[in-house]
Amino acid sequence: MTRTHRILAAAALATLPLAAAAPASAAPVVNKVVVIGIDGTLYSEIQAANAPNLGRLAAEGTLARTSIAPHTTMSCVSWATALTGVWDTKHGIKDNDSTCNPTPFAQYPTVFTQLERARPSLSTMSLGTWDKIGMIARTGSPAADRVSVTQLDPSGAGVCETTADSNAAAQVVSAVTEDGPDLTFTHLDQVDIVGHTLRGIWPQAYRDAIGRVDGLVGKITRAVDERAATHTDERWTILVTTDHGHKPSGGHGGQSAYETASFVIARGPGFASGAQNNGYTLADVTPTVLDLLDVAAPGNLDGRSMLLGGSGDPAATAPNTPAVDSGITGSSSGSAQALMVNNPLCIVGSGSAGGSYGD
Ligand SMILES: [Zn+2]
Repeated sequence: MTRTHRILAAAALATLPLAAAAPASAAPVVNKVVVIGIDGTLYSEIQAANAPNLGRLAAEGTLARTSIAPHTTMSCVSWATALTGVWDTKHGIKDNDSTCNPTPFAQYPTVFTQLERARPSLSTMSLGTWDKIGMIARTGSPAADRVSVTQLDPSGAGVCETTADSNAAAQVVSAVTEDGPDLTFTHLDQVDIVGHTLRGIWPQAYRDAIGRVDGLVGKITRAVDERAATHTDERWTILVTTDHGHKPSGGHGGQSAYETASFVIARGPGFASGAQNNGYTLADVTPTVLDLLDVAAPGNLDGRSMLLGGSGDPAATAPNTPAVDSGITGSSSGSAQALMVNNPLCIVGSGSAGGSYGD
C-alpha cells in the first residue's frame, strides 16, 4: 500500500475490533510493538523544538497529554509503571535508589514476563540506555529475551549520553529490520540529563536535545515503516511516552504541572490519525502491549488498553506547561553553554556514568 492508503486503511480500521482487521483469507496477521521511552520530556517543548518525527507520529496517531499526579515524578518509579501497568501506590518504588530493585516485580511482573509466560514464543527486547531499565527488564521469570544497556561500554565504563542514545536507537533499528521482535522497548535519556544540567540557564539546549532524540525517533520510525511495507502479515504499532517533565529551572521529583506533565503518542492500525485522547496514561502502556499481542491483562493492573480508550479521562485538560524561552537561574552564555557547544556529548556522559543526576 502507499502511505496514503495505509493511513486511510488505518483510519478505517480504527473503530473496528482487532479481530475484524485481518482479512479472512490472508496469512495470519501478527501485531508488533515498539515502545519508545523518552526520559524527562515536556510535550510543550517538543512542540517548540525542531521535532518533525515526533510531530509526524502524533499527526498519524493519537496523542494524549496527561498529568501523572499524584504519582512520584522520578524515572525508576515511572518506567516501572510503564513496564508493569500499575502506579507507584501499588509497586511501591519511590526513587531511583534503594526502592528501585527487583522485589516489586514479583507481585507486579513486567510486561516482558507477562508476555513470555503467556506466549513463550514471543520475542521481547529491552534495548535502552539506563542500567535501571536493564534491571527491570532482566527481573522476573522469564525475563525479556534480550536486554541491553548502552550507557556502559563493554569494559563497564560510562559512555557519553548522546552516544548511549544513538547506540540504543541503532540497536532498535537493527532488531526491527532483521528480527522483527514482537515487543521492543527502548529508553533514550539525554533530554532528561540536559534538563537537569542546562534547562534552567539555557532552555534551547533542552530543546536541542529533544531535536537530537527526534532524529533517533525518525530512524526507528523509518525502520518500522520499511519493515511493515515488506512484511504485509505484520501490523506495527509505535507508542511514545515520557516518565515525567522538568521544572523551568530544571529538575523534577515534585508535583508541579511541569514535573507531572506526561504524554503518550499511539500510532498504529488501532489508533485514529490526528486524534487527541487525554485518557491514555503511562500505566496504559503495558495493558496496550498485552492487548496488541493477544495476552490477557492481570486483574490487578491500574492501566487499561488504549485500544479500549485507556484508563484516564479522555477530556482531561492538558498540563499547563508553557514553553520556556529564556533562562531563569543564570546567564545563558555561561561556561555550561560553552562546554555544551564544545562538547555536546560528555557534559552529560560524565553525569550519567556517575549516576549523579537522578534520572
Ligand atoms: Zn531526571
